[in-house]
Amino acid sequence: MHNNGRFGIHGGQYIPETLMNAVIELEEAYNRYKDDPEFKSELSELFNEYAGRPSRLYYAKRMSEDLGGAKIYLKREDLNHTGAHKINNVLGQALLAKKMGKTRLIAETGAGQHGVATATAAALFGMECVVFMGEEDTRRQALNVYKMKLLGAEVIPVTTGTATLKDAVSQAMREWTSRIADTHYCLGSVMGPHPFPTIVRDFQAVISDEIRSQMLEKEGRLPDAVIACVGGGSNAIGSFYHFIPDEQVELIGCEAAGRGIDTFETAATIHTGRLGIFHGMKSYFCQDEFGQIAPVYSISAGLDYPGIGPEHAWLHDTGRARYEAITDEEAVGAFEYVSRMEGIIPAIESAHALAYAMKYAPSLPKDKILVVTVSGRGDKDCVSVAKYRGEEISE
Ligand SMILES: *Cc1c(COP(=O)(O)O)cnc(C)c1O
Repeated sequence: MHNNGRFGIHGGQYIPETLMNAVIELEEAYNRYKDDPEFKSELSELFNEYAGRPSRLYYAKRMSEDLGGAKIYLKREDLNHTGAHKINNVLGQALLAKKMGKTRLIAETGAGQHGVATATAAALFGMECVVFMGEEDTRRQALNVYKMKLLGAEVIPVTTGTATLKDAVSQAMREWTSRIADTHYCLGSVMGPHPFPTIVRDFQAVISDEIRSQMLEKEGRLPDAVIACVGGGSNAIGSFYHFIPDEQVELIGCEAAGRGIDTFETAATIHTGRLGIFHGMKSYFCQDEFGQIAPVYSISAGLDYPGIGPEHAWLHDTGRARYEAITDEEAVGAFEYVSRMEGIIPAIESAHALAYAMKYAPSLPKDKILVVTVSGRGDKDCVSVAKYRGEEISE
């Protein structure tokens, strides 16, 4: 299945020679520690005591009854410390970096969520932290810039290209190349060159590990489908991973259609992208007619990455997972519906997965069970959703 970081034809290491030493060092360290009992017990203590794991698997009774079909369970990653699944990955990578003797973490961030999570882990471990963020994004996400600085990180605005997430990733890779000795690049999703897609997936796989045992305990069987939103794809692959061998469990990723997959204002990589090579990996990317990376758009800042992790590209190729495109309008509808029905304000990213569950559940009989991963909480999105509805509120 995985051959040198390959997922089918996807993945690999398409990087300059100067970065090879860094990824080889990282892969060797990861192989040394991933099954080490001491590393595993330190990480699970961090997950439990610091992040607040295990996260709950909650039966959304009102929503299930109102929709009138399958039972819907919510995997509550929004209840984690810092309010999303991203903490799972950064705690894992920070611990690994510490074992490798690194004293400095660098990261890219788009909306600022991964930057805040990395700054949090750096504070916890007493490490230096530098976050690269598109200049455009630093203006749009001033609150997260403040939080990163409060946590002790330095935020460097990136002015190249479109001054957004993809440029921040490129800049972080360049910085890593120039300073490998004391620095670990804490990449934020299941993307980039091998071994990142595997490392990030393994740290996020705690989600499906927990869903499995919680579901067996509550229902005595596996769910019929697991649904999660896909930006780079880390919360989705984490939710899917331990179910991949169980062919009867449907795996459904929800990508951001933005204003629609037939418009240019979309971030739906599987629906509109083509095979390409970017950020060190082969996968599907949104591209223009010349094969350049196309600008992407979604109401959800966490989903507007122009690519998708290589393992998802492979799950799509093999048909093991399917990918649905959800528009801004549908996601905003789900954001409001789940808030009202369950008293849970989901992240607008997670609302893409919830919107698909709202369409899918009514078509299924009542004895079917869906699990939807709520990747994060929606406090951060209230201002922009209000604005979408024509209401101006100040922070
Ligand atoms: C960053 C983020 C995402 C998208 O990232 P993935 O790697 O696709 O999981 C989704 N939901 C929330 C709440 C996020 O912060």
